[in-house]
Amino acid sequence: MGESESLSLPSAEVLDRDDPIAHIRQEFEIPNGVIYLDGNSLGALPRSVAQRVHRVIEDEWGRGLIRSWNSTDWYELPSRVGDRIAPLIGARPGEVVVGDSTSISLFRVVAAALTLRPGRNVIVTERSNFPTDLYILEGIKRMQPEIEIRQAAEGEDPTHLLDEQTALLVLTHVDYRTGHIRDMEALTQAAHRVGALAIWDLSHSTGIVPVSLNDSGADFAVGCGYKYLNGGPGAPSHTWVAPKHADRVEQPLAGWLGHRDPFAFTPEYVPAPRIRRFITGTQQVLSLSALDEAMKVWEHVEIAHVRAKSIAQTSRFIAMVEAQCAGLGVTLVSPRDPDVRGGHVSFAHEHGYAVMQALIERGVIGDFRAPNLLRFGFSPLYLRFEEIDQAAAALADVLRTRSWDAPRFTERRRVT
Ligand SMILES: *Cc1c(COP(=O)(O)O)cnc(C)c1O
Repeated sequence: MGESESLSLPSAEVLDRDDPIAHIRQEFEIPNGVIYLDGNSLGALPRSVAQRVHRVIEDEWGRGLIRSWNSTDWYELPSRVGDRIAPLIGARPGEVVVGDSTSISLFRVVAAALTLRPGRNVIVTERSNFPTDLYILEGIKRMQPEIEIRQAAEGEDPTHLLDEQTALLVLTHVDYRTGHIRDMEALTQAAHRVGALAIWDLSHSTGIVPVSLNDSGADFAVGCGYKYLNGGPGAPSHTWVAPKHADRVEQPLAGWLGHRDPFAFTPEYVPAPRIRRFITGTQQVLSLSALDEAMKVWEHVEIAHVRAKSIAQTSRFIAMVEAQCAGLGVTLVSPRDPDVRGGHVSFAHEHGYAVMQALIERGVIGDFRAPNLLRFGFSPLYLRFEEIDQAAAALADVLRTRSWDAPRFTERRRVT
């Protein structure tokens, strides 16, 4: 009897056969012998991206040269890619722009949002937030020393830190370690009740958990292009600003391509209408082209299907690991309730780093997050149920045989 039957789970074969989005995997390059559980850190390569980038380099850059700014749509790429991302995050066309890293985009929206709340000096966030988010807030405080940053402790409700002095609530929607999904609407409303604005980091949400920015009343959001959107290493981030703010707010990294008329070359800055003012300098045309191409997969997939498959896969993985690894030192740290669990699952293990290295050597690629987390990301666009079973079995085997307990698995590499 297989593991799935003894747990009374449906067989992986049946689930893969009946999976309405199974065919999408063909559009991705997945190396043989690899079970890729890291789509939440660096999404896999969509096959058509290589050709597209090649074409942009050879034809548009190589032959078109500077003429390509007009003859292709380089100029509009930030908004065009933004329009592809918009439906995944509950935004409308024309509300999203793409460029630069998430860290930079976060700096822009936080600094811009502060100007909408003059006289208030408090930013509320969580100590467990992704470190770059905390560092960016600290950097803003260095420029504006009157700012007070309040960090909710692990497990503490950040709304308890909100008061009449609070300008901003800055949170990540899906926790990068636990995968816990925050209640965007309730938290945004709590911020609004004290007159503060809500800024959301969607890095572990966009492309895996449906988000409703407009419906939840959020004020600003940023998100990542290289995780579930599969835009490639260092792919540019996306920025959304609520329409009610977009024409009123100015951001401090005002640069020439966010100007209303860049080619007038006037010494005075006049912001472009709406979201375009959140562009700073020249866009990353090669990276944007790669992300634009990667986003085409969404022409054939609905986020609701992705979410349903994601819940089925993460739930299955948890059930299998807990059954097969009982007594082997793994503890689930992700929520058990799938409604508040995002696209990844984390287990704590005392020797998490070495265990993950041993798994990677077997071709099961996840990541380790300090201090002791084995983190497994499940990208339903290209992951089969069969692979869930194989990954759980590999983890159980590594733990049972203690094959992780070897010197080559304890040496820390630079990137975990
Ligand atoms: C991955 C991630 C980022 C990435 O930031 P970059 O500046 O694009 O490297 C930011 N915030 C969160 C919450 C993330 O998970």
